[in-house]
Amino acid sequence: MPAIDLTDDLDALQRLPGVAQRFVRYVQIDTQSDPTSETTPSTEKQKDLSRLLAQELGDLGADDVAMDEYGYVFATIPSTLPEDVAAQTPTLALLAHVDTSPDAPGANVIPTLHPDYDGSMIRLPGNPEVTLDPERQPALLDHCGHDLLTSDGTTLLGSDDKAGVAILMQLVEHLLADRSIPCPPLRICFTVDEEIGRGVDKLDLDRLGADVAYTLDGSSTDLLYAETFNAAKATVTVRGTMVHPGYAKGVMVNAVRILAELISLLPEAEAPETTDGYDGYLHPHTLHAGDPEEAAVLIILRDFTGDGLQRRKDLVADIVQFLRRKHPKAEFALEVEDQYKNMRSYIAETDPRAVAFAHAAAETIGMTLEEDIIRGGTDGSRLSELGLPTPNVFNGGHDYHSRFEWNTVQNLERSLRYTTALVQYWAEHGRD
Ligand SMILES: [Zn+2]
Repeated sequence: MPAIDLTDDLDALQRLPGVAQRFVRYVQIDTQSDPTSETTPSTEKQKDLSRLLAQELGDLGADDVAMDEYGYVFATIPSTLPEDVAAQTPTLALLAHVDTSPDAPGANVIPTLHPDYDGSMIRLPGNPEVTLDPERQPALLDHCGHDLLTSDGTTLLGSDDKAGVAILMQLVEHLLADRSIPCPPLRICFTVDEEIGRGVDKLDLDRLGADVAYTLDGSSTDLLYAETFNAAKATVTVRGTMVHPGYAKGVMVNAVRILAELISLLPEAEAPETTDGYDGYLHPHTLHAGDPEEAAVLIILRDFTGDGLQRRKDLVADIVQFLRRKHPKAEFALEVEDQYKNMRSYIAETDPRAVAFAHAAAETIGMTLEEDIIRGGTDGSRLSELGLPTPNVFNGGHDYHSRFEWNTVQNLERSLRYTTALVQYWAEHGRD
């Protein structure tokens, strides 16, 4: 079957289930966030989608619909439980983020459908050099017979996290259209700037008013993510002495050379490109200044344990100390800042049911949820730290932040089915 441009073939679009139609609409709105911006949201265009979602939530009949000045969208789905029961049932929040990654082009996404996938390599129509290739992306082979959704190859797809957005919006439509589905006190929230690590910086938790939450921002299907890195960043600045190279002997102290030495002392076996699973790393990420007078590097530190992260901070400090002694004429500055923490311990302290119920809900629909770790951060890690336990559940997508990102119609439906079961489970067991 040839690829179908869903912006062009409206008959094909209308044959898709509601959740996929929503997805196709939302991915066409450019919401790329920008790490160099100081504002919230980092890009004003994120509000284009936020505004639309608020409008649609209102049209669907949700209560308390509002978008705040930062572009966060809130809504309430009233509980179906008797008032006294609802009052004793935790308020559940479901979240997804509207922004897309700055790592690949995000404007003018052309959602493209590849019906009944047969397991072969696919060249994307807008750029035949961009392929979906089972050799590189083996998860494709688990999706034979699915209807694949991709971009045309010139942009990312934006399944991260417009899949989560579409699933939540479709869920709201279902819950409000069919009040026989048990529903706890439920808050819906769309966030901004997740991709640049600021997703909940300006989120008003009192306004959200939830006791437990889930983000729908996990890749693949049948997966729960409740464990993330502890994260810190270190900035090392070296100040040297610049003189004319012609008269430099014994005088010049070259900050570039000393900084290069520092980077070479970071262990190669503890890098993102040499580790996986539960191994942490030190990652020289960005060179800031870079001349003989001043050179600076941002190093990212990650580890699943608090002790491991401390060991990495100590290692950077030791390297700086070593170079300080070796180059007494240079000046060194080291700044270390914590970014986020592993969410698992916070969830266990606040409400371990956030994880237990996620598994139990899956069982009610014959699904076995596996747990995976996130080698990165997520809004949920910060929320869990702030006292709102927030595991991350799957939204069906694969190969995030790239032009060969994909999801499937069937995965979107499966994620919707699971999320519905999760809502129902909290309604029925929230008082347990
Ligand atoms: Zn995401």
